[in-house]
Amino acid sequence: MRKITIAIDGFSSTGKSTLAKQLAKALGYIYVDTGAMYRAITLFAMQNGFISASSENIEGLVEQLTNINLKFVFNESLGFSEMYLNDENVEKEIRTLEVSRNVSRIAEIEQVRIKLVDLQQKMGVEKGIVMDGRDIGTVVFPDAELKIFMTASPEKRAYRRYKELLDRGDKVTYEDVLENVEKRDYIDSHREFSPLKRATNAVGFDNSDMGLKEQFERMHNHALRVIMKEA
Ligand code: C5P
Repeated sequence: MRKITIAIDGFSSTGKSTLAKQLAKALGYIYVDTGAMYRAITLFAMQNGFISASSENIEGLVEQLTNINLKFVFNESLGFSEMYLNDENVEKEIRTLEVSRNVSRIAEIEQVRIKLVDLQQKMGVEKGIVMDGRDIGTVVFPDAELKIFMTASPEKRAYRRYKELLDRGDKVTYEDVLENVEKRDYIDSHREFSPLKRATNAVGFDNSDMGLKEQFERMHNHALRVIMKEA
């Protein structure tokens, strides 16, 4: 069967990565979570004093970009890849609310986007990839054979993320998570470079009231139809 590229975009906490992982597993494709890459650069910026709640030094961060080495390493026992920042596993650290508070600001920086888009395009040269993010179908792989755009109400998304953070043991309130989700939606869709928007040829759906199984089956069938058409 011929391999295709699947681009999944959408608002924060719409379950893009859950769907992307399921599709990648079912099709034997590579899965890439591009949000993890923006989060890792944000963690680097926080650890090195380039961004905090009260200050930022974007020029300083941009000068350091060539010293940031990102890679995904597959974890056999977990069954998915984890993010490494300069050879350190940062999978847990990049998922905190603190990183979520700063990431959209970092993702607005043109030089950051150029670096990450270049890495992402290299990962996809052989196709057989499911990539999720905000600009995958519009900028990273505008020729992707299948583009999916996901949305859900801010309240549903915030509740899902809130539960995830609680399950990890983080002390957060639902209100804080909702505020963060709404702020990121705004910045992500209004930024100058590669704003979040639905590609004209994307299959869109709202999963506010859709179960994971139904969502997966619909998109898996869709992917198989596209693959057959391409064959
Ligand atoms: O997908 P996730 O919520 O982990 O992404 C974190 C943030 O990274 C987003 O809110 C967005 O600001 C940024 N991002 C982006 N472009 C992507 C993926 C993520 O700007 N392709």
